[in-house]
Amino acid sequence: MNLSKLFLVLSLLLILNFSFGQETKKYLQGEYNKEVTGQVYTSPHQHKVDQIQAIAHPNAEIRNVILLIGDGMGLAQVFAGFSANNDELYIQYANQTGFQKTKSKNKYKTDSAAAGTALACGTKTNNGAIGVDSDGNLVPSILEIASENGKATGVVVTCAITHATPAAFVAHTGSRKNTADIAKFFVSDKIDVFIGGGLDDFSQRADNDDLIPELQEKGFQVVTKTEELHTINDGKLAALLKPGHLEKYPERGDILPQSTAKAIDILSKDKDGFFLMVEGSQIDWAGHDMDFTYLVEEMLDFDRAVGAALKFAEKDGHTLVIITADHETGGLSIHDANLAEGSVEGRFSTDNHSTIMVPVFAYGPGAELFTGIYENTAIFQKMMESFKFAKEKK
Ligand SMILES: [Zn+2]
Repeated sequence: MNLSKLFLVLSLLLILNFSFGQETKKYLQGEYNKEVTGQVYTSPHQHKVDQIQAIAHPNAEIRNVILLIGDGMGLAQVFAGFSANNDELYIQYANQTGFQKTKSKNKYKTDSAAAGTALACGTKTNNGAIGVDSDGNLVPSILEIASENGKATGVVVTCAITHATPAAFVAHTGSRKNTADIAKFFVSDKIDVFIGGGLDDFSQRADNDDLIPELQEKGFQVVTKTEELHTINDGKLAALLKPGHLEKYPERGDILPQSTAKAIDILSKDKDGFFLMVEGSQIDWAGHDMDFTYLVEEMLDFDRAVGAALKFAEKDGHTLVIITADHETGGLSIHDANLAEGSVEGRFSTDNHSTIMVPVFAYGPGAELFTGIYENTAIFQKMMESFKFAKEKK
């Protein structure tokens, strides 16, 4: 190969390496000199973090609870967000902090179904199970209990609405794979607003049932296009925006923070208050893909949804905001950053979940209840206590 051709190939490789804001670095690490890859990423989607004031009355009555779950979001994922966003995130204003342990009934390493059921229903169950205990008995969720106590309820996600975490708040089935069964649980009086993907589980079903007319009979306004969302300002809303999961960020646009604000806007019209679960579903998928670009973008987008919730809570004064995860994914560690440039370097140690305990951040009246170290099931108990709901008779 002549010299000019060689030069051309080398410069092309260099360009490829430095384009797309991502760069990889190889390190020899540990006593066995194992090669690990550091991924350095600079996000073009930083956001300004407006100041959020501490609430004036920390002992005010808690009328609303907003639970935001970063799926797969460990402490390193949160810090990747800080490092990529000028050392600032809205999460910093939820400054009552704790940690929760994620093991399930049958595994030290949980999946999203068991962890979701622990957070939503306060019960340790087996991996893969949704809204049932390890003997298959139905356990009621905080969303269902809130509805029975006259509150409005909602779920906002970036995955199919029938996926493990949202399903744990609404459905009851032995396996997270039963998405057709899970969809049927959304045709319910106990949920008022749901926004996400998963249209096929309602309208393209193996049993040829079409659940869309059934949703409408239940009073849901059904929308299937993002641009239709703003036309709905009250009542019941079923927004099924994709046949399956939503795209990753930035392809899907600002649908997560916008849907969070939309759901709050609709649910806050209920004078008895509301419960809302918002999930940054794809932080987990970025960890499974060991893709640091994907991870940082999903983390920043999730933080913008946190911002929407905190801005409402700051004005409202009767809203408790809880931010946590169901587990960590990727065994991520953060190794370097240049805050001025916005570049950050992360390394993944696995493409699976890890068992490490995950952070809890809380803001608003009753937030101090979430400090300390405890099991994931305690999040449910603490929400019950915050709402002053009577303990459920087991
Ligand atoms: Zn996962």
